[in-house]
Amino acid sequence: MASKNRISVGGVEIGGGAPISVQTMTNTKTEDVRATLSQIERAKIAGCDLIRISCPSQEATGVLREILAQSMMPIIADIHFDYRRAIEAIEAGVHGIRINPGNIGSIGLQEIVKALDGTDCILRIGVNSGSIERDILERYGEPTAEALAESAELNCRKLEDLGFARLKVSVKSSNVRTAVSAYRMLSQRIDYPLHVGITEAGTSFPGTIKSAIGIGSLLMDGIGDTIRVSLSGDIVEEVKVGRQILKSLGLLMGCIDIVSCPTCARALIDVISLSTALEEYCENIRSNIKISILGCVVNGPGEAIHSDIGIFGFKKGLAKIYVNGKEVGIVEEHSLLKMVKEIVVDRKSE
Ligand code: SF4
Repeated sequence: MASKNRISVGGVEIGGGAPISVQTMTNTKTEDVRATLSQIERAKIAGCDLIRISCPSQEATGVLREILAQSMMPIIADIHFDYRRAIEAIEAGVHGIRINPGNIGSIGLQEIVKALDGTDCILRIGVNSGSIERDILERYGEPTAEALAESAELNCRKLEDLGFARLKVSVKSSNVRTAVSAYRMLSQRIDYPLHVGITEAGTSFPGTIKSAIGIGSLLMDGIGDTIRVSLSGDIVEEVKVGRQILKSLGLLMGCIDIVSCPTCARALIDVISLSTALEEYCENIRSNIKISILGCVVNGPGEAIHSDIGIFGFKKGLAKIYVNGKEVGIVEEHSLLKMVKEIVVDRKSE
């Protein structure tokens, strides 16, 4: 179930009923400050809330102050193997640290908790099926959902014993069923916010589907407080897919929802061109508007009545337009895009 605890990551609230946030991760060389900041900016414009940056070296942690000073979003440092990188990142002022307990060790964990003392920086325990503790793995034989959940719970308890509770947790697997089962189990056992995702989901097309099924299933159960879609591709794509998953479940405020039909022999207007052009136009507009675009009167009027802006083919090349469920006119197809854009702008400024 949705976490009971709430944390703040540089002002972005996570858990305890806060809006579900979208994250991504830069894939530049972190020390290339200009390229890293440019990716952060692109992700922010696409609607990202939090950004994670990999810190594999002192060169990487060495530029964090400079990046933090100019970043448009709170920053989470991604740390593996060497706890000293985490300490450097905390000293630089990052808003969160993500560690994989399977490769950081008990001493490392203790040192990180010491460094976190007196800061607002949060910690994510990111358990992955590729790095579960050896004894747990031996007991289960393979990285099962039980093994993932047990590893995550064990590390939460270790941190509680060290007196640290500013936590969020993830149990990612590239196997959708394993990941979903692991999160379901874990959500029954801990109250910390859950960072939800399907790891190494693949390239854009299969990765989008895997992520939508995995993240979507969990969100429909009320599980998940922040999400990251992992794609072998452009990070902006990850943000767009993440937002679309939230949008599809009615969990994203400030977005334009376009409903359009697949078209068929009955279509009287070019639904595909119009909806594609509108989607591009509306991409970065933050407003709660539902637009329906349908090819004919079979389903057009019914959808239009329940949309903020409704359009449907009425005669060949002609469309009826509805605003707030009421008919406002008949428009020639070539003027539709311009007219709908104007209505969107009007609605946005209301
Ligand atoms: S709304 Fe009309 S044009 Fe669109 S798919 Fe349905 S029947 Fe075909």
